[in-house]
Amino acid sequence: MDCVFCKIVSGEIPSGKVYEDGEILAFNDIHPAAPVHILIIPKRHISTLSDAGDGDAALLGKLLLAAKNLAKEKGVADSGYRTLINCNRGAGQTVFHLHVHLLGGKGMGYP
Ligand code: AMP
Ligand code: ZN
Repeated sequence: MDCVFCKIVSGEIPSGKVYEDGEILAFNDIHPAAPVHILIIPKRHISTLSDAGDGDAALLGKLLLAAKNLAKEKGVADSGYRTLINCNRGAGQTVFHLHVHLLGGKGMGYP
């Protein structure tokens, strides 16, 4: 499948990996929008949040818990961080493999 994040999962494209287990992978965003900008993805290809099913509840939970753990590990848990999922083009989704953005660090504003 011609999916850049599947290629990161398979190792075909390199990434700055920060976490991996059997089901999920987290790596640094190539164009960071904040001092900490990590993408957390399921290893299995799911195009958008709308394509997740009831059976993916635990997997979706794992993505958020990984975000929480990585925020702590990267030292932004107390200062503040944001998790974000863009779903479909109109919301800014450019890579059609489900991913949670973890954004944090100095200079994080609102929104
Ligand atoms: P979105 O706009 O929500 O689909 O986010 C896609 C994100 O993937 C953007 O922030 C890109 O900078 C990031 N991205 C695209 N290609 C790569 C890559 N090869 N390695 C790391 N991050 C990437
Ligand atoms: Zn994919």
